[in-house]
Order: sequence, then structure tokens, then C-alpha cells
Amino acid sequence: VTVLAPNRTPEPAPAHPAALPIRPPAGPLEPSFRPADRNRGRDRPRALVLFSGGVDSTVALWWAQAEGFDTAALTFQYPGRPRGEENAARVLLRAAGNPRRIVLDLPFLRESDSPAHPPGYVPARNPLFYAIAFHVAASEGIEAIVGGHNAEDGERFPDAHRAFLDELGRVLAGGLARGVARGTGPRDAPYLTFPLVALSKREVVARGKRLGAPVEQAWSCYEDLDEPCGQCPACKSLPAAFA
Ligand SMILES: [Zn+2]
Repeated sequence: VTVLAPNRTPEPAPAHPAALPIRPPAGPLEPSFRPADRNRGRDRPRALVLFSGGVDSTVALWWAQAEGFDTAALTFQYPGRPRGEENAARVLLRAAGNPRRIVLDLPFLRESDSPAHPPGYVPARNPLFYAIAFHVAASEGIEAIVGGHNAEDGERFPDAHRAFLDELGRVLAGGLARGVARGTGPRDAPYLTFPLVALSKREVVARGKRLGAPVEQAWSCYEDLDEPCGQCPACKSLPAAFA
């Protein structure tokens, strides 16, 4: 999970075991939200994976595919999102067999100015993301919405805590109108699922490797730089997670 952080010039970084090679910046990212092909066979349940290009969402994507879901990847583009993350996302989606991709632009999203909040904090980020994902999934009859939050995210950010995310799923499902033609049961509502929410970062990486996900290609750094800064909390925790 990415946290927006102000751009700043870091101190020279130490050697970084999981550093990505320097790649040219990604080209312009066009928002896209095309309706799914409704003639397509519906032999498998469908999942919409919130996919940033970071380690956790990469493992979540591989998990959904391994579970047999017909998987689509939903990426939110917003000011300050590291270009390295989008570069990684494109590489990873190719490795995943080019699942359908939906990119939605959220140009209004920004860090809080309030001194009451930690640096880089985006208020209501996850409720916004999941409400939008729920809109997409419910509109298309997609059954599952998959988020790659791990246990450590929830310790730092209340809106990434397991209890909050579960409650959010109930709230969204509870607010969904149901028409007679589409049935009346709760199964009509997409459900939110968080397959990594009990795992530490290290366990997420191990799970990803077992699933065959190229986790070393994912982007973790909070900074929008050509290569990982080596200084931010994500960079500092990465060597231990990959050890
Ligand atoms: Zn970093």
C-alpha cells in the first residue's frame, strides 16, 4: 500500500537489495473504464483487484488468479503517485498474462495539510478506493473485490485495519439497491476480501514467491524518484521482508 509523501531529495541511499533497475518514466496514463464484454463466458467468478504495482497488491493479484477468479486489475492514478509504481504495474501485468485493466484518475486526492495527521496521510483514502471499486464491481456484476492490505498496514493506518475494512464491506453491501430482476439476496452485492490481512510483510513476500509472483519487480518506495530512495519506511523495511 502506497502512502503519498512529499517529494524531497533524499540522502544518498545505501545499497538496496530489492532495488529496481532504472527505467524511463511511464508515458501518460489515460483513465480507462470500458464496460466489460457482456457476451463473454461467465464460467468463473470474477474479481476486481485493487492493484497499484506494489508488493502487496501484486501478491493479491496472483492470489486471485490462483484462486481461479477471472481477474481484472483496478489502478487509481492520483497526484504524487510514484512513476516507478506505474512502471512496475505495467511489467507485472504483463507477467500476469495481461488481465483486463481499469485505470481511474483521482486528480483531487491529496495529502492532508492538517498538523493533526502524520506526513503523507490521505484522509479517507481506503473508503474512497473501495467505494469506487464497489461501484465498478456492482455495476458489472463482479463478485469479489480484492485488497492486498497486510497486518502491518492496519497497525499504522486505521482505515487499513482489518476490522475497519470488514465493516466497510458490510456498509457498502448494505447500501446496494436490489431489483427484482436481479434477485433479492445478499449474494447480489460484491464482497470485499483481504487475503493477506493476517500476514506480515515478510509473510506476504513469501506467499507471493510461493504463488510465482515476481515480487522483486514491485515498487515499494513512497517517493517519486527514478529508483527507490532507500530511506523511507517502505524502503527500510523491504530488505527484512525479502530476507
Ligand atoms: Zn523509499
